[in-house]
Amino acid sequence: MLRGKLARRALLIATSATIATLAVTATGAPVRRYPAGTVVYRVPVSEPVVALTFDDGPRPPFTGAILDVLRDQGIVATFFLVGENAERYPELARRIVREGHAVGNHGWAHRALDALSTSAAHDEIGRGARAIREATGVQPRILRPPFGALDDRIRGRRGIAADHGQTLVMWSVETRDWAIRSPREVAVGTLRQVEPGAVVLLHDGGGNREHVVTATRWMVGHLARQGYRFVTVPQLLELAESGRRR
Ligand SMILES: [Zn+2]
Repeated sequence: MLRGKLARRALLIATSATIATLAVTATGAPVRRYPAGTVVYRVPVSEPVVALTFDDGPRPPFTGAILDVLRDQGIVATFFLVGENAERYPELARRIVREGHAVGNHGWAHRALDALSTSAAHDEIGRGARAIREATGVQPRILRPPFGALDDRIRGRRGIAADHGQTLVMWSVETRDWAIRSPREVAVGTLRQVEPGAVVLLHDGGGNREHVVTATRWMVGHLARQGYRFVTVPQLLELAESGRRR
């Protein structure tokens, strides 16, 4: 009897914990293991999951074309938006969120944070986050520093990023899609580097990204056949935190 009660209670606790976990994931808030100011490259996980990330948008027509590919495949990704682009293309920014993807902050005007004064770095991060929130209704909790440029003023629990509640998300797979124009070359080079817990850096803005659209379609198909599952960055961080299989 007591045993039954305990079991039911344990089930109740587990259920509320699951609901709480899902709520955190849905809002995109990073988990305790990666609080604001910490820097993430790849996440230790026990299953074949991968996070595709797209920087520098939203930018027509490429962001929309990539969203079409992701929708056709039924998968989710993460878009690190440039604030001024979100302000310029709010409908595209909203579509990203509406279709279940995560949004992160990529600064207001894509400036290298380590080259800015402390007050300008605050402004770049804060204004970027505000523009994304105003366009999408979502407060970004993850920041990808433009050019991957960081210094000790930015990172750390007491750094500038932490002041804005931002976890710093770098990447573990460099696709070089900004330099390589062949979709096949981008895809082959990327597939060679992907491993469970990988964060893949791609671009939907900042220039002509037609080859990225094609490369994404190929890569996603290949990775799915290899048994990979696609998650957003907040979901990936959550998987590392819980260590649970889903
Ligand atoms: Zn960028």
